[in-house]
This record gives sequence, structure tokens and C-alpha cells, in this order.
Amino acid sequence: MVTEETFDVVVVGGGVIGLSIALALSRHSACSLRIALIDAGRLESPAVSEGYHPRVLALTEQTIDWLSSIGAYQSINKDRVCSYSSMHVWDGEGTASIEFSAAQRHLEQLGVIVENDEILRALLSQLENSGVTQLANQSVENISVAEQTMIKLSSGKQISTELLVAADGAQSTCRQLLGITVQEHNYHQRAIVATLSSERAHERCARQVFLKTGPVALLPLEGQEQNRLSLVWSADEDVASDLESLGDAEFAKALTKATEHVLGNLSLETKRYAFPLIRRHANQYVGKGWALVGDAAHTIHPLAGQGANLGFSDAEVLVEEIIRQSQRGVRLFNPLSRYERRRRIDNELTGLSMTGFKWLFGHSHPAAVVGRNFGLSLVNRTKWLKDWLLKQSQGR
Ligand SMILES: Cc1cc2nc3c(=O)[nH]c(=O)nc-3n(C[C@H](O)[C@H](O)[C@H](O)COP(=O)(O)OP(=O)(O)OC[C@H]3O[C@@H](n4cnc5c(N)ncnc54)[C@H](O)[C@@H]3O)c2cc1C
Repeated sequence: MVTEETFDVVVVGGGVIGLSIALALSRHSACSLRIALIDAGRLESPAVSEGYHPRVLALTEQTIDWLSSIGAYQSINKDRVCSYSSMHVWDGEGTASIEFSAAQRHLEQLGVIVENDEILRALLSQLENSGVTQLANQSVENISVAEQTMIKLSSGKQISTELLVAADGAQSTCRQLLGITVQEHNYHQRAIVATLSSERAHERCARQVFLKTGPVALLPLEGQEQNRLSLVWSADEDVASDLESLGDAEFAKALTKATEHVLGNLSLETKRYAFPLIRRHANQYVGKGWALVGDAAHTIHPLAGQGANLGFSDAEVLVEEIIRQSQRGVRLFNPLSRYERRRRIDNELTGLSMTGFKWLFGHSHPAAVVGRNFGLSLVNRTKWLKDWLLKQSQGR
């Protein structure tokens, strides 16, 4: 097979992480890298819809800064960005709760909630005229690494590159083709997501109740009446199956009860979607001619809404290391080991702490209930601990 094109960097995966990397690299004109972006899908802006899409992301301040620095955040439609100014987390089995407020910490906001599609749209619009070669509707079928990395696409086309950046999501074909193993922990839970409307205004507060069977998050969405919410209900598999089998009205009733009527009656605005929850962590992020990033490198429990934020941190650090290596005249084919060193611990610790939270709140033994209620009350009363937790949640 004859190589048809050669690039310095080929990004596989046009999700939010892959797109942000391609865009950031294209902005570094000093390096003038030849960049290609490949996706199995269309690489077109998602259609604009009046209703909210149930796939949303809670972005930290650090992610907002990164997306702003590459010119993408500015082009997200602000009518769809909900700035939230408080968080309320409580134990559905006990009495303790914890509250964070932006005002108390002299911040403007704690973060924003925005649909995944809105971020995709902003990134894709910025990629127009960026010089990045876009290869849509093509999936990676084979990878071989010798003097360069050779990629065979489903169209039969073969391209070569100094560096393949695998941003092709949790089931990463690239990771599998490269033979990279992962540590896996199945939570035996599924997350049910949907858009909701509520009887009472959310007042820009992100709420989460921890039930024995998993956490239920009600994330505020933008809108004058403040009555649109995004639901992430993580539940043990048997409970999730029961919930999925309910009709819309019964489901909404169960949800209203589970969230203790905190926002009055809740109703469904969209279909429900369910995702299996599995923590994965690749045993290697880099090798000769390749690097893994975002969900291709790690997935975590969504209970703190940190998955994509970790991916954006990977993206930021990977771009820095690519630029550094390229400005030093070192081949990008050489493993970007500093990227792995700078990101692995953060990703590992965040993943483990989500597992710890899930474990702690998954027990109804009286000692566990007393322990976590004492812990939550203590955190709520201890300023430095609360400040520290808040900083972690903001990615700083
Ligand atoms: C229920 C739930 C709620 C969440 N909530 C939050 C939150 O509030 N905040 C947060 O930070 N994170 C959250 N996350 C995590 C977040 O959704 C992911 O971390 C993030 O979307 C991953 O982005 P990505 O670009 O790495 O992968 P993806 O978005 O999966 O993109 C992968 C891309 O690769 C393409 N692709 C796949 N295979 C191939 C192939 N063989 N060849 C070519 N292209 C290919 C796909 O078409 C796709 O475009 C949540 C996750 C879940 C499950």
C-alpha cells in the first residue's frame, strides 16, 4: 500500500478533546505543523435545536481558560451557557449536607454547564480556515509503527505521521490497535441522562443527592425561567433497569421523590439515555509515534462532572509538550514522556477519589452513615477544607 499523505500530527477523534487539540496546534503558527483530523462521523456542526441536548458538560474555570486561550469559548452561544453560582450536595440516607457558594469565596461563578454540542459547534467553527486537513467519515482500521506511524483508514487511504494523537473516546480503536492495556473497574452502575423541567427555579445551583444506589445530579441550564435542568442519575444496574422500564410520568415521579422535592415536581423534556459506568485507565499514555488523550486514556465516574475537564487538561499539557519538543528540534516521533508524567497522577487520583466517594455513599451500614455525615458536616464547617475542595472542583 502506498502512503498517500504525510503529516506532523494526526488527531484521531473529533470529540471536544480532539478538536481542541487540533485547533490549539493550528494556532501555533511558529511551529507550522501539518495537522490532520480524522473522525468516523461527519465533522459538521451539530444542528441547532431549540430544546436542550441531554449530553452536557460542567466546565471548570481551568477548562474555560483553556478554551478561551484557543479562541473557542468566545464563540459558544452564551444563551446556552449556564453560569452556576452555588452547589448543594446532600446525603439522601442521612442528614448531612454541604454547600458551596461563589459569593462566599469572592468568585463570579463556580463554573458553567453547557451542552457538548455547543462546544463542538464552537470548536468546528474556529477550525474553518485553520489549515487543518479534515478527513470525515473515515475510521482508523490499522496502525503500524516503524520509522513513522502509518495509519490505514476505512476508505483504503493510508497516511503517515510523526505523531498520532488518539482522542477517539472510551472505546478507543487506536488504543486497542496499539495494544495498550487498561486497568478497568466496572461500577456496575448506569447513568441515565435527560433534560428536565422543574416546578421551582434552580437559581443557578448545581444539586446532587447521594442515594445508597448512586448519586442523582440536577444541573442547571440557561433560560429566563431557570426551570430547565440536566439530569445525571447514576444507579446500580438493577435499579437502573427498573427506572428505564418506567413510563415517563412514573420516572418523573420517582425522580421527584428521590431528590426530595427540592425543586418541586420534575418532568421529562427529552428521551432518556443510559450509559454504563466503567473506570478505565490506560497503562501507557505515550510511545514512539503516538499519545492517548481524553476518554481514550481514562474514564471516571461522572459524580463530580470531571471527565471532560481531565481530558481538556490532558489536551492543554499535550499541546505544550508538542510545541516544546518541536521548538527544540526533537522529532515528535519520540515519546512525549513529559506529557504522561505531568498528567498521570492527576488523572489517577481523580479517578480513585470518585471510586472512594461512590463506595462511601454506597453503604447503608450505620457506621458508614455516621462516618460520612460527620465528614460532610465537618467539611461544611471547616473553611480551609471547604476552600481546598472548591479549588479542586474548579481544576485549580
Ligand atoms: C453520563 C455522563 C455525564 C458526564 N458529565 C460530565 C460533566 O459534567 N463534566 C465533564 O467534564 N465530563 C462529563 N462526562 C465525561 C465526558 O462526557 C467525557 O469525558 C468527554 O465527552 C470525552 O470526550 P472525548 O473527546 O475524549 O471523547 P468523545 O466525545 O467520545 O469523542 C470521540 C470521537 O472519536 C470518534 N471516533 C471513535 N472511534 C473512531 C475511529 N475508529 N476512527 C475515527 N474516529 C473515531 C467519534 O466519532 C467521536 O467523535 C460525563 C460522562 C458521562 C457518561
